[in-house]
This record gives sequence, C-alpha cells and structure tokens, in this order.
Amino acid sequence: MRFDLITIFPEFFVGPLDHGILRRARETSLVEVHVQDLRVFTKDRHRTVDDRPFGGGEGMVLKPEPLFEAVESLLGAGVGEASKLGTAGPKTAIVLMSAAGKLLRQETARRYAQLERIIFICGRYEGVDERVAEHLATEEISIGDFVLSGGELPAMMVVDAVTRLLPGALGNEASSQNESFSGVAHSECESLGRTGSSHQSQATRYSLLDFPHYTRPAEYRGWPVPEVLIGGNHAEVAKWRRAASIEKTRRNRPDLLPRE
Ligand code: SAH
Repeated sequence: MRFDLITIFPEFFVGPLDHGILRRARETSLVEVHVQDLRVFTKDRHRTVDDRPFGGGEGMVLKPEPLFEAVESLLGAGVGEASKLGTAGPKTAIVLMSAAGKLLRQETARRYAQLERIIFICGRYEGVDERVAEHLATEEISIGDFVLSGGELPAMMVVDAVTRLLPGALGNEASSQNESFSGVAHSECESLGRTGSSHQSQATRYSLLDFPHYTRPAEYRGWPVPEVLIGGNHAEVAKWRRAASIEKTRRNRPDLLPRE
C-alpha cells in the first residue's frame, strides 16, 4: 500500500509515522509513505498556494492549479489529465480531507485497506477550491463533526486506521477482528432484547464498542477486576465480554445499536 500526502507542511509528518505499528509497517515495506510538498507545484517567486475567495469573505483558499498538478505528477499523468479519472485506476483513491466530507467510519478504513494507493489532499486556511472536490478527488472525507485547522492530522488518522488493517500489520491477526466497530450479526442484536422490525436495513450488521479490558493488579485502590475474568472459565469470560460490550455501547454510543 502506498500513501501520498500532499501538504504545505511536509515536516508535519516527521513524528507520527515513526512509532509503533506504522513505523513497523514502513520498515517491513508493508506500506510506503510519500510526503509531497505542495509548493513544489507553484510557479511564482513567492510559491503561492492560496488566494482570496471569490464572492468575498474571510480567509484564504487553496488554489486549484498546484493541487491538480501535484496529483497528476504523482500519478505520472500529463498536466490536465487528472480529471480523466481512469488515470487513477480502480485501486487508487484521491481523498480530499474536509470538514464538509462524508464521515470516516471503520468500514471506510476497511474499504481503503483493499486499495493499492491513496493520495491525500490536506487542506488549510478556509479550505480548498471546490473544483478539487468536484473534478480531482475521488472522495471527500471528514474525520468527525468538528473543524480543525488543517487536513494533515485527519489524513494521518486515515493512514493509521488503514495500516493497522493490512494483513501482517498487527502482531496478532485476531486483534483487528475483535474490536470496536468490528460488527455484530443481526441475530445477535435481536438477542439484545430489541425486537427487529421487518425493515430491510435491520438485516445489516451492527457495530459494538470493544469490551472493557483489565490487567494487573487484580485490585487497585479498592477497585477489583470483575471476578469472572480471573476465574479462567473461557465461556463465562466470553459471555461477560459480550454483555459488557453491549452495555458500554448502550451507555456511550446508543446510536450504534438498532432502534427499538
Ligand atoms: N471552512 C471549512 C474548514 C476549513 S479547515 C469548513 O467550514 O468546513 C481547513 C482544512 O482542515 C480543511 O480544508 C480540511 O482539509 C481540514 N479539516 C478541518 N476539519 C476537518 C475534519 N473534521 N475532517 C477532515 N479534515 C478537516
């Protein structure tokens, strides 16, 4: 998997790529990360990447030309060819990070993990000329309902979420199958005591949050670890974890559960 990050702050990525799973994935060539300085694709003396918004208003907007040319250069396409998206190919996504994009979900990360290459466009200032969303990016993605000052952190989050799903990235393959948002079958949701309607979407999979984890000491400041986890009865542990998972989802993210 190759990630390209197009940014006006290339140094931004020096730290985040150098730890833990991401670092190992790079060292073992499971992923290759290329950081592309947007200013390389400017033509004026001041290396201008932004300009004032048409129609007036606050702030500056990232100009389209350097962004189109950066993507075209990364894809090895001629200038002016990026809009023929065949150039990108079905295994390549061009992702514009945007507070106004579609929400990133675990299933988005799973879909991206099937690709060969993702090119991220990191916005700054008031955002990016809309023609980039319309004619260059294959997707516009938000990492949550809040506004950050740049697309670099959001892009890093996608890189992290996708990398850990690649086969071989985690030490223990089971770890990414049994965690928050990994899905629970419809029949199990019905046994949560919720009666499913005959509505078709009820037949889809639902997500649960991860169950709570505990480690030593078995008692800390008077707070004991749940008894069942110490008992060594695997069936009972599994049952407790399933129930705790449902309870935590109900408490923190009731929106993930099927409606009653
Ligand atoms: N005016 C824009 C916000 C611009 S913030 C709006 O109101 O929607 C500047 C840049 O930060 C954006 O272009 C985008 O690349 C990035 N950004 C900010 N919030 C983000 C989010 N929630 N998800 C993804 N990218 C975000």
